[in-house]
Amino acid sequence: MFDGPRGAGLAAIFALVSCAGNEAATPVEKPTAEQAYEARIENARPVPKPASERVGTAPASVLPAKFSYSGELTQGGWIRGKAPAGAVSVTLGENTVPIAPDGSFFAAFDRDSGTSAELTATLENGRTVRENLAVSPRKWNIERVNVPRRRGGPSAAYQARRAPELDAIWDARQEQTGANGWQQQFIWPVKGRISGRFGSQRIYRGEPGSYHSGIDIAPGNGVPFVAPADGVVTLARTGFSLEGGLIIIDHGMGLNSAFLHASKLAVQKGDRVSQGQYIGNIGSSGRATGPHLHWSIKWNLARLDPLLFVGPQ
Ligand SMILES: [Zn+2]
Repeated sequence: MFDGPRGAGLAAIFALVSCAGNEAATPVEKPTAEQAYEARIENARPVPKPASERVGTAPASVLPAKFSYSGELTQGGWIRGKAPAGAVSVTLGENTVPIAPDGSFFAAFDRDSGTSAELTATLENGRTVRENLAVSPRKWNIERVNVPRRRGGPSAAYQARRAPELDAIWDARQEQTGANGWQQQFIWPVKGRISGRFGSQRIYRGEPGSYHSGIDIAPGNGVPFVAPADGVVTLARTGFSLEGGLIIIDHGMGLNSAFLHASKLAVQKGDRVSQGQYIGNIGSSGRATGPHLHWSIKWNLARLDPLLFVGPQ
């Protein structure tokens, strides 16, 4: 999963062609493939290689000098990958992308992301490595209705109640616990009928409402649900006006999940949870028309489609 054909595979090919998987290598005659390869590296600074290393002696542990990654390159999707050897920092567009000690990283594309995004690594030698990603657009379920959007803002009493709730949610989603769930293939927190999809949106006489920020799973009231990946609980409380019983889990690297409308919470803030561990029961607390689990995923400020983490049931 970490080393797709763009990564280790390519590096292996270049190593075969030129014995120069390392970007510093300068064979006597550069093959075309390697020229293309080096053209991707900004400010490439050729460093002569000792003659003894020119042929057939590339170290076995040659690390790729470019990004390798795989995942769902689409709006609401994500990638996992490895930064180029020697990377000290990585960005995706405006986002800082944290990198693990072994160079692994996670990054993702907001529901309303543009159709391209640039991954940039700054190496310890000051060079930059760029990789342009094509992000495929989605066709969202858009419903146009001929009624005006709800008029009149929330009451002062409601705003007074809501403000601290929003603060608590914001704080919980900002918390960085060092959890490692971001590395895992996620599992469904519970399986069942999908009663609402991520990204769906109503447009009221031309005025867009907010889109659906998660996926709704409706297997029935009281059904237990589990952690889709390892993490640390950063919020577990009942009584939120819209969310009802709410659990937020940090999966590390800026990636987190929220579970809404629970009838029972089986975890507390600070708990470390493992993938598949029971964390709560489905309900209809807060603003819900019937019992269901609303599961949403965010990476920093980007809202992501949970379906792209787990695939079809
Ligand atoms: Zn929902």
